Amino acid sequence: MEVSGLWQSPSWPPGQGYPDFLNAVAKINWSGTAYELLEILQSIEQSFGRLHSERNAPRPLDLDILDFNGQIIRSELLNLPHPRMLDRGFVLLPLQQVSPNWLDPETGKAISDYIARLPLCDIEPMKYRGVFYEIRR
Ligand code: ADP
Ligand code: MG
Repeated sequence: MEVSGLWQSPSWPPGQGYPDFLNAVAKINWSGTAYELLEILQSIEQSFGRLHSERNAPRPLDLDILDFNGQIIRSELLNLPHPRMLDRGFVLLPLQQVSPNWLDPETGKAISDYIARLPLCDIEPMKYRGVFYEIRR
């Protein structure tokens, strides 16, 4: 498993006064299906005290699958790649740390192309265990 640094950003959507987000991306090996992985991630979210609250409300933990071996899935339960990841710096910057060569399976575009178009001003690498994670563009 590879894990990115932690990235801190104002909560989304802006202006709600919710606490900052902390985000990270992990690259894992998984031998089951994407749906089986989603079930496990949801049970972990629940064990962290996540309730079924309104969308984008503060939550102790949000575990999303960003990419599953380049599979494209559009269903009610699961969308892959994650539909909102491409315009979220707090997703793309940690993703780039663990998968610098990631390509969007739908367009073939490189992660660096998406990052180059982001407004980055609000996102900061967090100093974590003495390691400072640089923003690479
Ligand atoms: P968000 O992660 O966008 O803030 P939520 O965590 O509240 O939204 O959304 C949870 C729902 O999103 C779940 O019920 C799950 O079925 C669905 N979902 C669709 N695609 C994915 C994905 N790639 N990863 C995680 N959940 C997903
Ligand atoms: Mg989620």
